[in-house]
Amino acid sequence: MAKVIDWLKQNDKLMFSLEITPPDRGKSVDDILSSIETMMPFDPQFINVTYHQPHVVYEEKAGVISRRPRRKKPGTVGICSAIRNRFRVEPVPHLICGGFDHFETEDALIDLNFLGIENILALRGDPPPGQPRYIPEKNGHQYAWQLVEQIAQLNRGQYIDELEDPFPTNFCIGVAAYPEKHFESPNLEKDLFYLKKKVDMGAEYIITQMFYDFRQYRTFVEKARAIGIQVPIIPGLKPLVSKKQITTIPSSFHVNIPAELVASIEEARSREQEFANGVRFLARLAEQLIDYGVPGIHVFSMGQGRAAKAFLETVFAGKR
Ligand code: FAD
Repeated sequence: MAKVIDWLKQNDKLMFSLEITPPDRGKSVDDILSSIETMMPFDPQFINVTYHQPHVVYEEKAGVISRRPRRKKPGTVGICSAIRNRFRVEPVPHLICGGFDHFETEDALIDLNFLGIENILALRGDPPPGQPRYIPEKNGHQYAWQLVEQIAQLNRGQYIDELEDPFPTNFCIGVAAYPEKHFESPNLEKDLFYLKKKVDMGAEYIITQMFYDFRQYRTFVEKARAIGIQVPIIPGLKPLVSKKQITTIPSSFHVNIPAELVASIEEARSREQEFANGVRFLARLAEQLIDYGVPGIHVFSMGQGRAAKAFLETVFAGKR
């Protein structure tokens, strides 16, 4: 079954999806495919592939300054195809607003449709490296809800230009949400208001940013339901298994790390102990979420294949 929402509606068992990141330009895809291979025994139903906005560099040659977009991690669509061919697992490409105008977005959607892709995670996108805040392209989208609206319109056969007998696409649209609020939002209530807008525009399910406290997810879901967001809310989990990540994860993703997790990593006497403590903590969080009745678990496994595998071994042994 190809669509995330259909899978969720027609299955009682817990959905499990993985999120991977394309390799840096110039690197082979083999390491990522090998890392996915190690997680295939856990039977992921979907594999998400992130998308990265190019950053612009200015180059001077013979006195002429030229502007050149450089994408550090190209290959999202290619990896999606490779995943489907090699593992027979449905890929979910991420599509972002950043770096695209409306017409380029429409072209990207046509490409994905021609490839037989039926799922998209629609995002605004992070600013490219070195740029402090998000800036849309001229004629590009400022917010993810506008991208959701464009995809939903294409699903109804509404292209930007009026066309004769236009073909409707059939994408299942997922969006992101933040149990601790998005870092630019003044408060959780305002962020939820705009999350609802994404759902009203056509998003069929939600994947959350990582979090490390079960109560944050539960409160978030309760508040979302209270304002009428009824779609499945899949928790996103990212292993935190080293001292370094105690600072890198909050600074990159704007999330809190509970004192208990910080202490258990800091008290560890070796890297292996840090790893084991981090995996155990996340597995306990996953148990709480499963007991609460979450529809699935989404694992941010980017660059953390070993930790993701250890986490899955602990959680899913005999569970699914
Ligand atoms: P939006 O939903 O547009 O929200 C952005 C901010 O704008 C929020 O603060 C929101 O409250 C506010 N807002 C929305 N609408 C309005 C409005 N009308 N008026 C005022 N404020 C408004 N980034 C990538 O670059 N590539 C990826 O592949 C990627 N994958 C991700 C996967 C997941 C599961 C998650 C959780 C995040 C991912 N990100 C990715 C990061 C994401 O792009 C950033 O967090 C980005 O800053 C916000 O994206 P969004 O889609 O949530 O934006």
